[in-house]
Amino acid sequence: MATTAETIHKPQTVRPPNLEDHRLACAAFSWAQARRALDESLEGRPGFNMATLAVDRHARSPHAAKLALRWLGKAGARRDLTYAELSRLSNRFANVLKDLQVDAGDHLFLLCPRLPELYVAMLGALKHQCVVTPLFPAFGPEPIATRLTLGHGRVLVTTSSLYRRKVQALRESLPELQHVLLITDDDAPPPPGTQDLRALLDAASPTYQTRPTDAQSPALLHFTSGTTGKPKGAVHVHEAIVAHVATARMALDLQDDDVYWCTADPGWVTGTSYGILAPLALGVTLIVDEAEFDAERWYTILEQQRVSVWYTAPTAVRMMMRSGSTAARSHRFPCLRFIASVGEPLNPQAVRWGLEAFGLPIHDNWWQTETGGIMIANYLSMDIRPGSMGKPLPGITAGIVERSDDGSVREITEPGTEGELALRRGWPSMFRAYLGEEERYRRCFAGDWYLTGDRAWRDADGYYWFVGRNDDMIKSAGHLIGPFEVESALMEHPAVLEAGVIGKPDPLLGELVKAFVVLRPGARASDEVTRDLLGFARVRLGAAVAPKELELVDTLPKTRSGKIVRRLLRARELGLPEGDTSTLEAA
Ligand code: AMP
Repeated sequence: MATTAETIHKPQTVRPPNLEDHRLACAAFSWAQARRALDESLEGRPGFNMATLAVDRHARSPHAAKLALRWLGKAGARRDLTYAELSRLSNRFANVLKDLQVDAGDHLFLLCPRLPELYVAMLGALKHQCVVTPLFPAFGPEPIATRLTLGHGRVLVTTSSLYRRKVQALRESLPELQHVLLITDDDAPPPPGTQDLRALLDAASPTYQTRPTDAQSPALLHFTSGTTGKPKGAVHVHEAIVAHVATARMALDLQDDDVYWCTADPGWVTGTSYGILAPLALGVTLIVDEAEFDAERWYTILEQQRVSVWYTAPTAVRMMMRSGSTAARSHRFPCLRFIASVGEPLNPQAVRWGLEAFGLPIHDNWWQTETGGIMIANYLSMDIRPGSMGKPLPGITAGIVERSDDGSVREITEPGTEGELALRRGWPSMFRAYLGEEERYRRCFAGDWYLTGDRAWRDADGYYWFVGRNDDMIKSAGHLIGPFEVESALMEHPAVLEAGVIGKPDPLLGELVKAFVVLRPGARASDEVTRDLLGFARVRLGAAVAPKELELVDTLPKTRSGKIVRRLLRARELGLPEGDTSTLEAA
C-alpha cells in the first residue's frame, strides 16, 4: 500500500502544545501517573467520582466563578453556568434521586435535546453513583425501548414532548422504568406516571455529599450497534475520566483558557467523553448549542463565541464544504486555534478545506464506543498526512493483527500491510463489559489484544490509515448503525417477508442506509409500498437510523444456513466482484 507523499507541516504555535514531542511523550507517559495527578487534585477526599472530578473540584477552587457552560438555545436564548452553579445544580439533581430512593448502581437514562438540564442530570446522577445512559433524542420509539429494556432503566429524564411522542405508548412494556422526570416543553399537563423535573430541582437542596466512589464502579453505559443481535451496552467505569482528561490534553490540546465546542450529541460517546467530562474536568469553558446543524449558524457560533478549540465530525465538515469556503471567509475566527474531527474517515480534501476556510487543517482522530476515549490522533505538534488517522496516543499500544481460525492473533509488523486494528488492553477508559453478555465481550479480545473490528494499516513512519470495517456495520453521518436493528424493524411491517440492509457510499453521509426487501406472497411491489415502508421505518427507528433508500427484490442472497449475505448485496449494489460464493444457498 502506498502512502501519500502529501504532508501538511505542523504550525508554528505561540505557546507550546501540551504534547510537544510524540516520541518523548510516549516514553515518559504512564497511566499510573495520569491517575495520580487526578487523585492528588482531590486533596485527600476519598473516592474517585467522575462528576466530582469534572465540577465539584473546580467549584472549591478559584475556578468556581469561571464560566463552565454556555448554552445557546435554538431560538436565540442563552444561559451561562459557572462551575459553582453547575456543581450546585447537579447537587440538586443528586438530591432529587436520593429523595426518590434511587440507589447507587441504578440505571438512569437521558433522552433529551441538548438542554442545560441534560448536563445537570448527567453530573448529578454520576455523583449519586447511578449508571448513566444518554440516548440520542432522534431515535424512534423502537431503539429507545430496546435500550431501556436491555439497560434495565429505572429512571428516565426526558422532555414532555419526547415522552408523549416516543415513550408513553410503550410505558407498559417497560416494567423496570419506575421514575420519569420531565422537562416540560409544552403547555399540556404532565402525563400520568411522570414528575416535573424543574419543580423537583427547585425543591431539592443544593448541597450534596458524594459518597466515596470506587474508581472501578460502572458510571456510563453507552449502547453501540452490532451486526447481529441486539445493541450492545458498553460499560465504562469512573476511572475512565483519567483517559478522558489525558487524551483531551494531548489530542485536542485543551488548555485552561480555551473556549471549546464539541458538536457531538451526548447520545453518542463523543458527546459525553469530550462533550461533557473531559472539558469540564480540564476546567475550560464549554459551548453547547441546542440547534441542529446549520452552516451559517455554526460559523456565527465559532466567531461570536470566540471558540478556540473545535471538535466536530466529517459529515458536518462535508456539509460546510458544500456551502463553499466563501461562507466561512465572510466570518473571522481570530480565536480558533485547533480543529479536530472523529467518527468516520476524514477525506484528505476536508483536511485541506480546513486550511482554506479557517487557516487551520482539520486533525482526524480515531476511537470507538468501546475504547471510551481517543486512541489514535493527529496532534498539534505533528505533520499531518491527509487521509491518515495519525499515531497512537502515549499510553496506547496499537497494532495491526490477523486472526487465525483457532482464535489466536498474529501481529503484522511489516509496514503497509493491511490487517485488523488492535489495541493492547489496559487503558482506563476501556469498556469493562457488554452488559449481560460475557461471551460477546470475551470474543473482542485475543490474549492481550482488544480487536477493534476495523481494518487498517500502518506506514513506515508509524501513521495509521483506516481501510474499513471488518463486518457489516454502517457508518452514516458518524452514527454506527447495526443492519440487524433496521432489518428487524422492517420485518415488523405486515407486507415484509425479509430484509437485508447495507451501507452504500454517499458523498455527504459517508454511507447511507439502504434496504433490500422481499415482500410476502400476495403483497404487490409498487412505489407506494416502497414509500410506505420507508415511512414505517422512519417512524419506528427515527430519521438517523432509518433507511434512506429501499429496493424491492425477489430474493436475498443467503448462506446455506440461511444467513443473509450483506457483503454480496453490497458488492452487487456497487458493481464490485462478488468474491467467494461457495457457501451460498442455490438461488
Ligand atoms: P462508534 O462506536 O459509534 O464511535 O463508532 C466507532 C467506529 O467508527 C470505528 O470502529 C470506526 O469504524 C469508525 N471511526 C471512528 N473514527 C474514525 C476515523 N477517524 N476514521 C475512520 N473511521 C472512524
